[in-house]
Parts: sequence; C-alpha cells; structure tokens
Amino acid sequence: MSLVILCAAGILGRQGAKLVSTAKEAQGLHTWQVVIDVGHGGIDSGKVSADGILEKDVNLAVAKKLKMLLEQQDVKVTLTRDSDRGLYEEGDSNKKVADLQNRCALIEKIKPDCTVSIHQNSYTSPEVRGAQVFYYGQSPEGETLATLVQESLVTRADPDNHRQAKANDTYYLLKRTVSPTVIVECGFLSCPQEAALLTQDDYQNKLVWAIHMGVMEFLNGVNDAA
Ligand SMILES: [Zn+2]
Repeated sequence: MSLVILCAAGILGRQGAKLVSTAKEAQGLHTWQVVIDVGHGGIDSGKVSADGILEKDVNLAVAKKLKMLLEQQDVKVTLTRDSDRGLYEEGDSNKKVADLQNRCALIEKIKPDCTVSIHQNSYTSPEVRGAQVFYYGQSPEGETLATLVQESLVTRADPDNHRQAKANDTYYLLKRTVSPTVIVECGFLSCPQEAALLTQDDYQNKLVWAIHMGVMEFLNGVNDAA
C-alpha cells in the first residue's frame, strides 16, 4: 500500500504529497509540529563578535536551514521570526520584555511537540568554544530533547566539543513554556575561530544536520512511547 502511495506521490507531485499526508491522517498518525525560536532581531542584535558578526543574523541563517531539514521529514515548522525584526511593537515601552512575552504566547498558541530556540554564546575568554544545549530543570522531556541534541552536535558537528546539556531555571523562555523547550547555543561568537565557522555555509549545514537529527530522535522516541 505504501509503495503505491509513494509511486503516486512521485508521479503526481504536489497532489501526490497530499495523498501521502491524507494516508498518514487516515492511519491516525500525528503530524509533528516544531517551533524554531529565532533569537533576538530588530533593535536587539544579541551577542556581537570582535569583527562585527551579529548573533541575530547567525540565528536567522541557522534557523532557516533547520526549518528546511525538518520540513523534509514532514514536520510542520513555525519560525518565531523570518526576517530581521523583533516580536515587539514600536509603541512598546519595554521592547525586550514584549518580545519575550510574544515569543512565549506564540509557542503556547501552537502547542508544538517541542521548541528549539537558536542562539549564539559569548564569554570573556576568547578560547572558550563549543555548542551547548540548555533545558528547564523541571522538564524531564526538555532534558531528553537537550541531551539528544547535545550528543548529536558533538558526534555529528564537533567531536572536540565535550560539553553536556545543562539545566537552566532562569531563562524566561524555558520557564514560561509548557511544551519541551531547549535553547541551543550553537557556538561562541567571542571565539574568533568559532565565530568564523558560524558564518560559514558548510559549518551551518553541519550544525543544522546535527540539531535536526537530535530533534527527530526525540520526536520518534515520544511517538514510540505513546
Ligand atoms: Zn542570544
């Protein structure tokens, strides 16, 4: 049966894809939904490297690539922003607070299977480097997702990175979202070598491949357990 549907999908193109999703729904299969939160934007540049690379730009480039990979796995993906803007209005007195509240409200409205928030890190010592994933300490599902994404990043993108997923109970987005949420700090803009890598197409592709594999492992695990 699935072979017939796959053949039909190949021949019919868009109409074929519709057949596949209809068949999926008929089998009662859940369509996975993921929110990719694109950190910062607009007046908020986030971290800045010594030579002027802006975190908000790296976040958007990485998020768009991650969206494409997840969509290829039939995951429905929502970006919290798809251009250089924040989630605030010009009239908001505290744009940073409004921005974070609107991100959380969007995630709560969608109620995704999980949320991946994309950021870049920074530290005072320029030699500090390596991706790290954070989760809310009270969320076992968040911890599972963070662990899978962290391990995937180490194995598939940067074997020299020995960081482990870490609980964080102060990040607003982690505290205020019910569905499993992780913050992926893809690397340190304060490390010149890593900052250069983070803007490279090849390295971004490696990063998003690793993140998407971790997310898919999480989604499949949740599905199997259900
Ligand atoms: Zn950030």
